[in-house]
Amino acid sequence: MTRQPLGAVLFALISVSTALHLLGRGMHRLGRCAVPECTVIFADTSRTGRQRYCSQPCANRDAVRRHRANRMVG
Ligand SMILES: [Zn+2]
Repeated sequence: MTRQPLGAVLFALISVSTALHLLGRGMHRLGRCAVPECTVIFADTSRTGRQRYCSQPCANRDAVRRHRANRMVG
């Protein structure tokens, strides 16, 4: 048996439990934030699985951006 620092063992355990947690929810529910300049990858925890943004501020920002784009068009 190899000796490992306790921190490394804990980190490995946490990584595994996080991975299992994600698997339980479904890996296909990992999504990228719909805001182009935001690169956050989030785990969709909504019931519908239709979460598009990593956070509410991003959702608001994209709503404002789309609103402006619509005004430019017509
Ligand atoms: Zn975002």
